Amino acid sequence: MNKHKRYTAGQLFYTKKGNIILAAAIPAVLLLFGLIVNIFNIRLTGWLPTCYFKEATGMNCPGCGGTRSVQSLLHLDIWHSLWYNPVVFILIITLAVLYVRFVLNLFKKTYTPPKYDFSVAVAYIIGAVAVIFLIVRNLPFYHTVFY
Ligand SMILES: [Zn+2]
Repeated sequence: MNKHKRYTAGQLFYTKKGNIILAAAIPAVLLLFGLIVNIFNIRLTGWLPTCYFKEATGMNCPGCGGTRSVQSLLHLDIWHSLWYNPVVFILIITLAVLYVRFVLNLFKKTYTPPKYDFSVAVAYIIGAVAVIFLIVRNLPFYHTVFY
């Protein structure tokens, strides 16, 4: 019997061993990224093309300020992260919660492989949040508080 079974990249998502590797790799990569950005004081903005929606309409799209939101979060500046783009901030927090659930599942006696199912309802909710945020963030009052 082969003790050192080799895994394909796809199996990382479905075997417990693969999920443990993922659980360790995700924070390691994020920590490394955060450290590199902070140590070398790298600006994430300016490398990406200007938002096409903003260029065409002059309004902010649901993603505008997302890069600055991530940059602020990497500097542990939660207020500015929220200020630049609250939806991106909430998305990051949601992913963090899902990550914690993913890790807790690994330590449960009754480990169940993640299903990675993405329901249509979730897609509609994300779409609705994006449209509502697009409207709200372009209302005049929004600019008195947020970017
Ligand atoms: Zn945009």
